[in-house]
Amino acid sequence: MVDNHNRTINYLRLAVTDRCNLRCNYCMPSEGINFAENSKLFTIDELSRLSQLLVSQGITKIRITGGEPFVRKDLMVLLRHLSEMQGLDDISVTTNATLIGPYIDELKTLGITNINVSMDAITKATFEKITRRNQYDTVHANILRLITEGFNVRINCIALEGQNTDDIIPMLALAKHFNVCVRFLEEMPFNGGSKKFEKITWNYKQILAHIAEVYPDYYPLASPKSSTSMNYKIPGFEGTFGVIPSFSRTFCGACNRLRISATGDVITCLYAKASANLLTILRTDDAEENIKIAILKAIGNRAKTGFEAQHENKDVFSNSMTSIGG
Ligand code: SAM
Repeated sequence: MVDNHNRTINYLRLAVTDRCNLRCNYCMPSEGINFAENSKLFTIDELSRLSQLLVSQGITKIRITGGEPFVRKDLMVLLRHLSEMQGLDDISVTTNATLIGPYIDELKTLGITNINVSMDAITKATFEKITRRNQYDTVHANILRLITEGFNVRINCIALEGQNTDDIIPMLALAKHFNVCVRFLEEMPFNGGSKKFEKITWNYKQILAHIAEVYPDYYPLASPKSSTSMNYKIPGFEGTFGVIPSFSRTFCGACNRLRISATGDVITCLYAKASANLLTILRTDDAEENIKIAILKAIGNRAKTGFEAQHENKDVFSNSMTSIGG
């Protein structure tokens, strides 16, 4: 699939739920958001059908996200289907690592070893303040287990002014001792109205300057063209680190992604409005043909950059990342 700016689209981020067992304060208010009724979420069977359709259209990588994917008790049924799908080269999961423990062995058996874990602080009190839940010990233990069992783990940490920036250097200790990539992201305006969002102080340049004060010798690593992260190595470290300019949006030119939200919306950019609802289409006649048409239409009308998309989407600041899938 090729979009209207001549970019090949082969990467799907598929949100399997909008529910989450954490309440990260930059993502949603403490009381949560208006979560979708169960009937408005795809069944696992529908998610398998949808994935198959998209793979037949040219998707080669699917990242499972949410909400928290593992709050769905039947998630492994989907992952088993995906692991057998011809043409799907890469299945990845983004998780908060609170509930993944019982599934680690089977994930490894299925060959699903690319796991992104969101962890916004290495200090327990800071972590629990941001997430508004006391899950630090579980998350920390699961991360170490994933790393030692040989998973390809990336840790995503949002730089939040006044909350966790003192943890940026200590977080890097993980990359010092383990073969893991610690990535620092800019905060984005998708917090479900939990706080006013105007601008960010901690952009990728500020994060890099802060790291350079302690580790001036870090050097850049080559990254794939469609990568959203700029990656670096500190001499002597086992792992690597990266920054993701998710608000500065320097990477849009090479974007190869399509998103499907937990309620079936097709989103061609984090900052864009949904262009169709696939759940509605999937539950009507001629579903497969009409889904393919809707996907091609969405891909043929993509904004060139996140700034262009934001310009056309006046409600952008009221959404929550738990609905969009990160
Ligand atoms: N529950 C899973 C997790 O914790 O990774 C997957 C869903 S979560 C919505 C996906 C990613 O979005 C997480 O890394 C989270 O930190 C990030 N995220 C949520 N709200 C954000 C915001 N306002 N700005 C930047 N990233 C955000």
